[in-house]
Amino acid sequence: MAETVTTDILIIGAGPVGLFGAYSAGFRGLSTVLVDALPQCGGQITALYPEKEIRDIAAVPGSLGREVVAALKAQADAFKPIYLLGRQAVTLGYTDGRPVVTLSDGTVVNAGAVIVTAGIGTFTPRTLPAGEEFLDRGLSYFVPDPQEHTDRDVLVVGGGDSAVDWALALRKIARSVTLVHRRSAFRAHAASVQELMDSGVEIITDAQVEALHGNGTLQQAHIRIDGQSEPRILPADAVVAALGFISNLGPLTEWGMDLDRRTIVVDTRMQTTAAHVYAAGDITSYTGKVRLMSVGFGEVATAVNNAAVALDPALSLFPGHSTDAA
Ligand SMILES: Cc1cc2nc3c(=O)[nH]c(=O)nc-3n(C[C@H](O)[C@H](O)[C@H](O)COP(=O)(O)OP(=O)(O)OC[C@H]3O[C@@H](n4cnc5c(N)ncnc54)[C@H](O)[C@@H]3O)c2cc1C
Repeated sequence: MAETVTTDILIIGAGPVGLFGAYSAGFRGLSTVLVDALPQCGGQITALYPEKEIRDIAAVPGSLGREVVAALKAQADAFKPIYLLGRQAVTLGYTDGRPVVTLSDGTVVNAGAVIVTAGIGTFTPRTLPAGEEFLDRGLSYFVPDPQEHTDRDVLVVGGGDSAVDWALALRKIARSVTLVHRRSAFRAHAASVQELMDSGVEIITDAQVEALHGNGTLQQAHIRIDGQSEPRILPADAVVAALGFISNLGPLTEWGMDLDRRTIVVDTRMQTTAAHVYAAGDITSYTGKVRLMSVGFGEVATAVNNAAVALDPALSLFPGHSTDAA
């Protein structure tokens, strides 16, 4: 039978803004459920640039994307939110005036308020045409923890920033790293491509993965290089396919909120036009909106504190200073 969860605040999207929302809600003593379609937290950072240095978060002069996600998660975890990962929020309805959200696995979440921090939508990885049967047995579309590739022969596939960044990060950990790209030109930052060329990572261009082989787990990749009659066979314990993602707002567009193209219109409380539904982060729009994490962090704090007062009008809007907390 489908699971039913009841919470004060339901946050849809466990990207950076959703994670900070979970901290803000926890600080107010509100129970929180975080839902994300991805199997990991971190939104765009985890999907697109975990190895890039982020320098424009207040008081963080420079930190890798995955370190920022880990810090945001630790901050949220202090208040023990419930994570429902790997499932998409699909429908919004109401029971006795309270929002009820159904997830793609059938889970039903009853919430006092919903905060949508869905960014640019769900990410679906562009799949590797060959070897899908090795998914999670050697083939992956993310590198949540580079250390998992210690002493492995790793093949990275792609020519964008993620592929180049992952190849550069993994070369310090893996036994070998080979990058396969189907064109000769790269889409990644020129400086990163130059670093890759100087790094000793083997780069095979104008080539595609034709097949993956192994006995249970992955052992070999067959690479078809343009103009060559026989495939090149490489040892491979892991293939990281960094071919990009397709983002899609999907069912959220059917929830009755006023939209402005691919964003949700909010007022100064971060309230949407759907009852008890707020939004924050990249998904919101209003005149003068700046799409930066630092802006999203402020928006989600505003959303949480306004939701807290809507849930209990006796509360004050100002949450108090964290320095005053025990
Ligand atoms: C290459 C790159 C570099 C960047 N560098 C910087 C930088 O240096 N500084 C900066 O401030 N910003 C930077 N940004 C922008 C920054 O990443 C975004 O502003 C930030 O990720 C927005 O956070 P968010 O939580 O609003 O949304 P996202 O990070 O997009 O997270 C949204 C989450 O919601 C989930 N989701 C969506 N719909 C649903 C649904 N229906 N059900 C369940 N889950 C759902 C998604 O799976 C996703 O995990 C960069 C972006 C890119 C692409």
